Amino acid sequence: MKIIMLGAPGAGKGTQAKQIAEKYHIPHISTGDIFRANIKNGTQLGKEAKKYMDQGMLVPDELTTNLLVDRIKNADCENGYVLDGFPRTIPQAECLDQALAKMDDAVDYAINVDVPDENIIRRMSGRRACLSCGATYHIQYHPPKADNTCDVCGSQLVLRDDDKPETVKKRLEVYHGQTQPLMDYYAAKNILIQVDGTQDIEKVFADIVQVLGE
Ligand code: ADP
Ligand code: ADP
Ligand code: ZN
Repeated sequence: MKIIMLGAPGAGKGTQAKQIAEKYHIPHISTGDIFRANIKNGTQLGKEAKKYMDQGMLVPDELTTNLLVDRIKNADCENGYVLDGFPRTIPQAECLDQALAKMDDAVDYAINVDVPDENIIRRMSGRRACLSCGATYHIQYHPPKADNTCDVCGSQLVLRDDDKPETVKKRLEVYHGQTQPLMDYYAAKNILIQVDGTQDIEKVFADIVQVLGE
């Protein structure tokens, strides 16, 4: 099963993708997590990506696409994967389709987690991230068991630099300009699934499972 998560920054793509990965035994691949791991480890890729991320802009297509296409060639991707945060532009989607076509393959579902802009800023200012293992929490909607500490790995949680309101505004603009057109792209292929992302985390997941099957 090859799944793409679509939606505004903070819509809950990562939260749902983690649950999908667990239930269907496929890897969760987040380009944002890969970039953040590279930044943390001080790699060249991380230095390059950070310049764009800090401004709420997209990392250039070529860099992102090469990274992703390499990743999905790994053995753990044989039975599928859930992509979270990729593609984010039409050229990225086209490159993914071409790479898959070469392997006689295609995306099965594009799931759009629909949340209006008004809700997004509140979601983002409450988001706390673990930069060690990629887990995410929300101070109100999905709090960690111990204050500011990752349930999974015990690391200190942070408010991401790009989750500050000024940067979130910019990211929403970028989303509407460059990523939202992907909805039409996948609708035209008849694989677009719409879910109401304003519901509880559990209800959103139940709606997704209804489509993907038990
Ligand atoms: P969110 O979880 O809020 O949607 P991500 O963690 O997916 O954010 O992405 C954080 C940042 O990483 C983006 O704002 C962008 O700068 C960069 N990024 C992640 N994925 C991509 C991509 N597919 N193309 C370009 N930039 C990306
Ligand atoms: P994305 O990957 O789309 O940027 P996340 O999955 O990181 O979004 O979710 C953004 C924030 O909102 C996180 O703090 C998360 O815990 C919280 N969140 C996710 N889904 C919901 C939901 N359905 N209701 C309330 N809060 C949510
Ligand atoms: Zn952690």
